[in-house]
Amino acid sequence: MSFFCQQCGECCSVMGQVFSIREERGAFRFLFENLYTGEETEVEVSPPWRELFSTGKNPSGWLNPCPFLRYDPAGGKAVCTIHATRPATCRDYGCWRVLVLDPSGFRVARVMEKRYLHLAEPSLEREWEVFRDTIDHLPDDAWDSAVARFFRERGYSVFR
Ligand code: SF4
Ligand code: SF4
Repeated sequence: MSFFCQQCGECCSVMGQVFSIREERGAFRFLFENLYTGEETEVEVSPPWRELFSTGKNPSGWLNPCPFLRYDPAGGKAVCTIHATRPATCRDYGCWRVLVLDPSGFRVARVMEKRYLHLAEPSLEREWEVFRDTIDHLPDDAWDSAVARFFRERGYSVFR
């Protein structure tokens, strides 16, 4: 399965250090700049998200959010209010190669880079560490497959 975003907001919650609104160009239209690459993008806040964009509040844990990121309390998810016109950098981004969810959809673990698993379930830490040592010798693809098997055998859903 190809990458899908769970809209947790984690990645965008620090993107205020990367992106900045350079210019307002009429109602809900902006020139948006990537401060690192110089990339400029004309963006527009989508009509369904305009009220949330103007009045919404973000969780205090989002220390430096992108100016277009909002938390939607109704859906309980993060929203990119310019999703349809977002910069190429954002379109190309994917935060996992292997994703592990529990039956309620909570993210238990993800493999983000080659051979690195971020585990969000403390009760699995010890078991995972012991298992990880046994698969160190495997090539990358087989390593991913072994990770998937580890979680599937414990009743989790795995997406790759
Ligand atoms: S790309 Fe990943 S980290 Fe960013 S909002 Fe989506 S699921 Fe969360
Ligand atoms: S433009 Fe959208 S996807 Fe990109 S950092 Fe901002 S909120 Fe996230």
